[in-house]
Amino acid sequence: MRPMRVMLQPIGESDWQLLARLAIRLPQHLPFVECQVSPRTLSLPPGAITPRRQWLANVLLAQLVVPPGFDRVVGVTNVDLVVPPFNFVFGIAEVDGRRAVISTARLMDHDAEVTEVRALKEVLHELGHTLGLPHCPDPSCVAAFSNTLADTDRKGPKFCLKCYQRLLVSWQQQCSEAKQEGHDGGDRSKCR
Ligand SMILES: [Zn+2]
Ligand SMILES: [Zn+2]
Repeated sequence: MRPMRVMLQPIGESDWQLLARLAIRLPQHLPFVECQVSPRTLSLPPGAITPRRQWLANVLLAQLVVPPGFDRVVGVTNVDLVVPPFNFVFGIAEVDGRRAVISTARLMDHDAEVTEVRALKEVLHELGHTLGLPHCPDPSCVAAFSNTLADTDRKGPKFCLKCYQRLLVSWQQQCSEAKQEGHDGGDRSKCR
């Protein structure tokens, strides 16, 4: 099994220190992941802003491109994201796909460590979806659904054993399938 290479893609104004810290911390929780920060910022797509000054998460997701040599791309933005009819989303991902996007807009705390751990949880959660992981009923597992910041703070930055095993199996399968037939770019369902 080879490492899963993840590119963190800044979108819009970016906190480069936060991104660098995320790239260091992600593999501590998903040891089969290698992570880098893209040196290039993507601009926010014009026309994707709603009258409530939120950005359409699906439009941001759609503009992400997995760079050559990488397996996943995770967009990170500080603008508030929305997928109507929800009021907001912390992030979304292509289920069994390769792209995800998260927002730090609702994760900010005066303590940078708190903000960082929240962002780490959101990235881990969305990466789980890209590996086909559904929401976990264990509220302490990072794969549990967060409806509020309190939900995010309650769960740990770790996957429960069951979820972690599913992720490993899923990545192993993707490695062996890719060897046989290469990746397809099919249309994926989305999950927040
Ligand atoms: Zn779990
Ligand atoms: Zn989710």
